[in-house]
Parts: sequence; structure tokens; C-alpha cells
Amino acid sequence: MKAFVMKGLDQVGFAEKPVPRPGSNDAIIRTTRALICTSDAHTVHGAIGPRENLTLGHEAVGIVDQVGAEVKRFKPGDRVVVGAITPNWGEAASQAGHPSQSGAALGGWKFANTKDGVFAEYFHVNDADANMAPIPAGVSDEAAVYCCDMITTGVMAAENANIPIGGTVAVFALGPVGLMAVAAARLRGAGLVIGVDSVPKRAELARYYGADLVADYSREDVVKRIAELTNGDGVDSAIEALGGDDAFQNAIRVTKPGGTISNAGYHGKGEFVHIPRLEWGVGMAEKTIRTGLCPGGSLRMERMLQLVRNGRIDPTRMTTHTFTFDQLEQAFTMMDRKLDGIIKPLITF
Ligand SMILES: [Zn+2]
Repeated sequence: MKAFVMKGLDQVGFAEKPVPRPGSNDAIIRTTRALICTSDAHTVHGAIGPRENLTLGHEAVGIVDQVGAEVKRFKPGDRVVVGAITPNWGEAASQAGHPSQSGAALGGWKFANTKDGVFAEYFHVNDADANMAPIPAGVSDEAAVYCCDMITTGVMAAENANIPIGGTVAVFALGPVGLMAVAAARLRGAGLVIGVDSVPKRAELARYYGADLVADYSREDVVKRIAELTNGDGVDSAIEALGGDDAFQNAIRVTKPGGTISNAGYHGKGEFVHIPRLEWGVGMAEKTIRTGLCPGGSLRMERMLQLVRNGRIDPTRMTTHTFTFDQLEQAFTMMDRKLDGIIKPLITF
């Protein structure tokens, strides 16, 4: 089969690989739709170290092609969403309520990290009964594929932000995760949602998904602006959806004492992430910093699919570009360099 791989640091391209085989609890999926993620670009540039001929991609839906003897909930022909994070559900961290960290820090993240990813004609899913969800009739593959990572991560960002009903929220960076965090903040009862970004198309989408206004950091001091918008108090909850040291620091600055900073960003560069000491109340302002990695699992995927099925979130608005699998290299370059106002490129197989 054909696969799109990281050949080495800063090198991508197609490779020929054997179709994977399922172990007794596993499934093999024939890929139908996938999305490229900014974290795929981080990986290629070395954020998690070198990799050789590793298939990229972690956001995909498809048709079950084969299942192992112990798989009970799925059969060949089923249309499924597979979480980007595929934990081993029997491990201690999973039992303790942290499945994304099963086996090791970020251990639930296997695709394009510790095993071949989903940018291939077929891909392998461990613990298939627990890591896949059937796509309901009426939900398209093009919409369902956003459940793998973008919706579940954006929703996690809002869940971790501990938003009071009617509370104030600032969302730093309005890429796809930030946009879904905006939508989720609204669903969780935020009274005021402030987006922070400089790209007009993203600002427009943020308003569509429920931001009351968008502050442009390239034109104004966003910390000052957010202070003005909150009567000098700061926000109850700040969401960092970029993975940038400056954005993270600003998230701490704009959060009121007792508030919560929810980090969903992938900090792919540098040795340290900094906390501004004074605005952190010299360590004593009761500002909580919470972090998380994309929640996976069949129950989670089913819930995210409900949001799509019943019109709570229409993620397809984020699809700015569509490519065929053969065009993946071009699509990858565009996503890596954020060309042509790209937000999310959809890949059809
Ligand atoms: Zn992703």
C-alpha cells in the first residue's frame, strides 16, 4: 500500500508499505478521509525527535477492513471514527482517569509518534472496541473526521478551563483547536468569549463559532484590551491554543486571581515555557494551570459525534482546502507554511 511518511527530519514523501495485520483486539481501517494537523508539521521539524520512514497523520475516518478475533463491537464494512489518541485502556494511567498518558507521558498518542499513522491506504488500530466509534447515518465522513482531534481537543480545552456559567473566557490563537474551544466555551455557558488572533479569516470563523469579539495582537495590546473588557478584573478562564511562550504568558496575565489557564497548545520549540512572576501573584494568586492531550476513546468519540449530528458544532466550515491522497505532499507544504489562508486541509482517499 501507499503511505505518506516522515523520511527523516524535515523530509517527507510517499513510501510503499505492507498492509498492516490486526492482532486479536485490533482493527485495520481502509482510510476514506483525513485531515492534516499542525502537529504533523511540528513532528516533521523534530519536536519529538527524529523518526525514519514513519507514516504521518493521526486524524482519519474510514471503513473497517479487518478485525481481530476478540473484537466484538465492529465488523468489516462499518464506517468508523478513530480517535487521534488510542490509549491502552488496561493500563494504570487509563484506570486513574488519564488515558492519554497511558504507558508514558503522552503515551496514548501512538499514530505518527510511536507507530505508523493514518496517511496511508490502510492503518492499524489497537484496542479497537475502545478506540473507535461508529459514524451515525446522517454524519458525513468530512464532518466526522473532525471528531478525531479538533473537536475533542477544543472541547477538552474548555472543560479544563473550568468556565463558570456566564463567566468570561479568552482564547489565545484561533486555529482549528482554538475555534473548537470557542464553540465549546459557548456550549459550556460562557457569558463572554474573547478570541485573540491576527488573521481576518480566523476572526470571522471565531465569530461564527461564538466569539463575542476578537482582539488582534498585531494591532493592540491584548492584555490591556482584555482588562478593559472585564472591568480590570481579567477573565475567569484563559485557553492557550497555540503552543507559544508569549501566548502562554499572556494567558496567565489576563486570568483573574482564582481563575484557570487551560493549555491545549503544543509547545514544540525552546527549552522552557515561562510564567510571568508578578502576574502569577508571585506564585500565590490561586491561578490554576491545567494541561491535557486530546482525549480519545469510543465513548468520547460518540459524544463528539452527537455534537456534530445534532448541529451543536458544524466543523466543516474549517475546511478551507481539499486535496486527494496523491496531492498530500503539496497539502503538507501548504499546512506547514500556512499558505493561502489555510485553516484545515481535507484529504480524500
Ligand atoms: Zn491533530
